[in-house]
Amino acid sequence: HAKAGGRNNYQFFTQEMNETVQERLALEGDLRVAIERGEFLLHYQPQIEMCSGKVVGVEALLRWQHPVHGLVTPDKFIPVAEETGMIVAIGEVALKSACRQLASWRAAGLPPLRVSVNLSARQFKQNNLPALLLDILRETGIESHLLELEITESSAMDNPAEAILHLRGFREMGVELAIDDFGTGYSSLSYLKLFPVHRLKIDRSFVKDIDTDTDDAEIAAATIALAHTLGKEVVAEGVETEAQCRFLQGQCCDIVQGYYFSRPLPPEEIVPYLKRSPAPSLLPRT
Ligand code: C2E
Ligand code: MG
Ligand code: MG
Ligand code: MG
Repeated sequence: HAKAGGRNNYQFFTQEMNETVQERLALEGDLRVAIERGEFLLHYQPQIEMCSGKVVGVEALLRWQHPVHGLVTPDKFIPVAEETGMIVAIGEVALKSACRQLASWRAAGLPPLRVSVNLSARQFKQNNLPALLLDILRETGIESHLLELEITESSAMDNPAEAILHLRGFREMGVELAIDDFGTGYSSLSYLKLFPVHRLKIDRSFVKDIDTDTDDAEIAAATIALAHTLGKEVVAEGVETEAQCRFLQGQCCDIVQGYYFSRPLPPEEIVPYLKRSPAPSLLPRT
């Protein structure tokens, strides 16, 4: 409390600070209501296998349909949800609805397709996450290998020994695993070898200038080679141009994802895209 330090301390609350505090409180309150009212939904972004041009998966990305502000993207609310712990409830909703969506696509006769769901650091550490996953797999009846969990490199490296145990548990359920935002954290090569994950997702900050910046190009090339040596696939995120795509193809990147192919789309808009797959025109000719 500012008051405890003496009455003059009130002046430290500038108008600007006050507004920030107000905004933060409003956001927290709105988030709480949003959980109760179920205002969260998922958009899906296709992941394309480079060797076939096929859509092999979609990443589920959270959106908040705010009654006043409209569709809100995760960067606006995930940090606060994470700090307050509300991310656990929100993440559960995301996990459930992604699996239900997949089940309904399967029931509608769409070809098998992987759905990737992002796990927050907190959610990843929850002791009841395995039980929740088993419940969801049972309820939806989806094949467990069609669910992929994405854990960021920094949340895996926060406590690597514990992360390895959690990851092994998920793997035993048959669920697939990916390290997200790879290259932005500090994994040591020895841990990378021990993380029982199927895929690495190269962070989009390295992909951005991949065709013009030699450092980024070399980081990406080395990451792809390293992943392949360890028997893992590589997903490049944030692919926006044909030049980036071509470079990644030259480096034998396995899967690409980005605006070049499609923005994240609501489920009804992604279905035609999935039906069209495989589409050779998705990838540039070599
Ligand atoms: P992420 O998992 O790394 O997801 C990729 C982000 O890059 C998404 O942002 C996506 O819309 C964006 N993106 C995809 N292609 C391109 C491109 O070509 N160019 C550019 N500039 N951006 C591209 P989005 O949807 O705003 O999500 C941001 C982050 O929020 C995600 O990063 C993820 O960390 C988090 N997030 C999203 N959904 C969930 C969720 O259900 N649970 C948790 N815990 N976090 C989530
Ligand atoms: Mg992700
Ligand atoms: Mg990422
Ligand atoms: Mg990211």
